[in-house]
Amino acid sequence: MKAVRIHQFGGIDELRYEDVPDPRPRKDQVLIRVRACAMNHLDLWVRKGLPGVNLPHILGSDIAGEIVESGEYVTRFKPGQRVIVAPLHFCGHCTKCLAGLQNRCREFTVRGNGVDGGNCELVAVSAASVVPIPDTLDFNQAASVPLVFLTAWHMLTGRAAIRPGQTVLILGANSGVGIAAIQIARLFHARVITTAGDERKKAAALELGADHVIDHYQQKISQEVRKITNFEGADIVLEHVGAATWEESVKSLKSGGTLVTCGATTGPTAEIDLRFLFSRELALLGSYMGTMGELHEVLGHVFAGRVKPVVDHIFPLKDVRIAHEYMEKSQMFGKIVLNP
Ligand SMILES: [Zn+2]
Repeated sequence: MKAVRIHQFGGIDELRYEDVPDPRPRKDQVLIRVRACAMNHLDLWVRKGLPGVNLPHILGSDIAGEIVESGEYVTRFKPGQRVIVAPLHFCGHCTKCLAGLQNRCREFTVRGNGVDGGNCELVAVSAASVVPIPDTLDFNQAASVPLVFLTAWHMLTGRAAIRPGQTVLILGANSGVGIAAIQIARLFHARVITTAGDERKKAAALELGADHVIDHYQQKISQEVRKITNFEGADIVLEHVGAATWEESVKSLKSGGTLVTCGATTGPTAEIDLRFLFSRELALLGSYMGTMGELHEVLGHVFAGRVKPVVDHIFPLKDVRIAHEYMEKSQMFGKIVLNP
């Protein structure tokens, strides 16, 4: 089959479209023909070099495709059935996995990070990771769902315990997590404040259901949040930008508010004034992907059309270098999808 592999870490020139042997499914696995694989910022981090990646390596976390064949132990799928693959890789038998906390499994990794991903024509994956999709979603839309919708769902419900009517500040409306989080917060009738960098992205954020959009280049985020909330601040701040916005994010919280973070796109090191943390009784929470149970829960909302993936651009898999360049320029509003 054709696959995009990296043989060493580095720039886009390290992405090689080449022939590799077809994978064979184990008895508990299914073989899937990949029809679409959505990109995430993780693809850029893995390409540039992360610990735990064995080279050569196939990138890509979010897979949608069709069942080709099932291993001997798998009986619930038919050839040709349309499915997505959970971006979670876990052992399935440790105490965390059995408790439904797959993201705390010692073997946990994201597909396309610690194990090979979906930038290829065929994948063999554990049947437990495969979820059938309805005809209402095409492959590009379906591939745009799992990682970001699961991440946003886990952050808002599993970690920050969102309650109806709360005020939620969501950083980066145009990011995959931002697009998912705006819609999920709206499901809880939250007041949604978000940030965007230009007029086109601001308009798209309002269309998704945001109540207020702050221009993060022109305006000071915490000042605007204070104005919007009558000097109270946000109940929940959803962070993934990292160093560039951390201080403003913390300042935007109300007393007793919760900041939940799942990423550090602009840098991993941030400071906090401990006096501000304790005197205002703030909660700072980390969040890493989510569980299989949460994935099924949020997929229920996607399949019912209550929340929708947004596809920005589709590239043929062989043009993966152009797709990486496009993502690095951050011009997208929505997901970038590769088609083998
Ligand atoms: Zn486990």
